[in-house]
Amino acid sequence: MSMNGSRLLNCCTRVVRAALPQDCLLCGAASDDAPLCGPCRDELPALARACPLCAMPSPLGEICGTCLRHPPQFDLTVAAWRYAYPVDRLVQALKFHGRLALASFFADVLACLVERADIVDVVIPMPLHPARLTERGFNQAAEIARHLTRKSGTRLALQGATRIRRTLPQVHLPFHERARNVRGAFACTLDLTGARVAVVDDVMTTGTTLGELAKVLKRAGAARVENWIVARTLE
Ligand SMILES: [Zn+2]
Ligand SMILES: [Zn+2]
Repeated sequence: MSMNGSRLLNCCTRVVRAALPQDCLLCGAASDDAPLCGPCRDELPALARACPLCAMPSPLGEICGTCLRHPPQFDLTVAAWRYAYPVDRLVQALKFHGRLALASFFADVLACLVERADIVDVVIPMPLHPARLTERGFNQAAEIARHLTRKSGTRLALQGATRIRRTLPQVHLPFHERARNVRGAFACTLDLTGARVAVVDDVMTTGTTLGELAKVLKRAGAARVENWIVARTLE
């Protein structure tokens, strides 16, 4: 098992005791105090060694060729799992079916992976467009960020960034159209001068959206922007 894999298992095991009594969301078995039972948790798809900037696989954990050629606006990406079965189902259960217990599970695993959530000054969830927020009733990234900061005491800026333009889902667009799709999508009214910022999101697909948000946060003065992500899509 890779370093990341064993660290992740360790994190998953440590956080299960905090949750509410329930059955495993994946197999229905008794899971004590956790949203997932032990065997299901242990099978969640870990990321192999990854580029520290974009979390795509890199054999020695070095910065990948893509990031060397086109350095992203963000400085680090921490991702808990690969976006693959059954993590994709769990992410969708939170996002579309309001299984909010998963937000605290994801937050606890992320908090453990980053070791100290207070290594940043402020946590900002990836914003939803107001129209989408109205449709869904909640922002899944904000729910995860809320749990993350509740324990660490790190400042949470729920409105730290806003979406000022509706965008198409990046996954349906050809690569060359993705940057244009998200350009000008975000605004930040905070003064982030010198701040270390963590952006929390559920899924990182191409990194283009996170890159655009990081650009806006740096323009607002952020000294460093990290992405704390539940699941990374490997294309
Ligand atoms: Zn299970
Ligand atoms: Zn990279």
